[in-house]
Amino acid sequence: MYLVANISVDICAATSCKLCTQFCPEANTILYNDEAGKEKGLRYGSAYVSVDRCKGCAQCVWVCDNMAKHNAIKMEMIDLIGDQALTENIHYGEKSTTATLANPFPG
Ligand code: SF4
Ligand code: SF4
Repeated sequence: MYLVANISVDICAATSCKLCTQFCPEANTILYNDEAGKEKGLRYGSAYVSVDRCKGCAQCVWVCDNMAKHNAIKMEMIDLIGDQALTENIHYGEKSTTATLANPFPG
């Protein structure tokens, strides 16, 4: 098993920074869902990680902690995170994406 980035919707959706999405070296890995967190009254939507594309470099953690100062991203073992965004379950809209969450290791 290996480490991937996991973004806290509760923290990220309280900001509107989108900073980490500009620094991930892997294409289409940190995505944005404009609706995430709105059911909790959070305003801005949230970044999330397509975990099967994440290479575990942790650059996004550094950006969120040190540039954005939001501390919303942690590196976690992929099999311990639970339901996550997988590339095949992501739906691409014009400005935002949504993902049907699934366990990367079903069963
Ligand atoms: S840098 Fe942090 S707060 Fe900003 S979009 Fe990324 S995860 Fe969210
Ligand atoms: S750990 Fe690296 S590859 Fe994974 S989402 Fe963060 S910046 Fe992208």
